[in-house]
Amino acid sequence: MHVTFASLLLTAGSVAGCYFAGASLWVALPLGLLLHVPLAAGVFHTAPSWVCPTIARGLSDGQKRVALTFDDGPTQEATPAVLDILAQRQVRATFFIMGKAVRRHPRIARAIAEAGHELGNHSYLHPRHVYLWSRSTLTRDLSAAQRVIEKATGVSPRLYRPPLGFRSFVMAGVMKGTGMRLVNFSARAYDTRPVDALTIVRRIKKRVGPGAIILLHDGADRDPAPDRRAMLESLPVIIDALRRDGYEFVAVSELIKRG
Ligand SMILES: [Zn+2]
Repeated sequence: MHVTFASLLLTAGSVAGCYFAGASLWVALPLGLLLHVPLAAGVFHTAPSWVCPTIARGLSDGQKRVALTFDDGPTQEATPAVLDILAQRQVRATFFIMGKAVRRHPRIARAIAEAGHELGNHSYLHPRHVYLWSRSTLTRDLSAAQRVIEKATGVSPRLYRPPLGFRSFVMAGVMKGTGMRLVNFSARAYDTRPVDALTIVRRIKKRVGPGAIILLHDGADRDPAPDRRAMLESLPVIIDALRRDGYEFVAVSELIKRG
């Protein structure tokens, strides 16, 4: 619904842009509608880079390597259990943590880092309309998250994942200015919606391939104490199944490293 509304806004913006750039309405209307398609894809689709440079999967050098990523934590309900499962199976993962959640659970955030996992910045407030934000608002949110993560863990993340994976031209400038890299994902299971463990496993297995960046959630952007039991049940099954298929798990920065 949100994306539909925002797409309409983008369409109207594209048409208005063409009109005010000097095109007549009869030219501006189809041109704007046409322009809106790549623009909307660049903002809302998880992979295209023409609005903002985006990494949605690792380099495909044929190696069966994937990265497990967890968004929206840390939470008491899921993160310690995720850490246990990863430790039992000796998997290194990447956690894109929210500033507001780190503020609630600094010790759990530290435990993630101490267990040797990689940390990424997933904004402070997790605004769903992040693609409409100005440069100063976006910078403020990103820096606030960066500070609270550094204070809790001693780590200064170099990777950023925007809320819902949405980007903007402004975000491209902020990434360039901070030297951070924007990382999205290529395999997700919509595990924040009511869904059972087997469906999560099936969706991930269907979308995974060499270089895949897998997205799961150990938190929820608007619920500080979410029910993540289905994801927790699916996680060991996903790891074991992918290993049986010959996949190796690495942190995102390793997956996207050149050479
Ligand atoms: Zn999120």
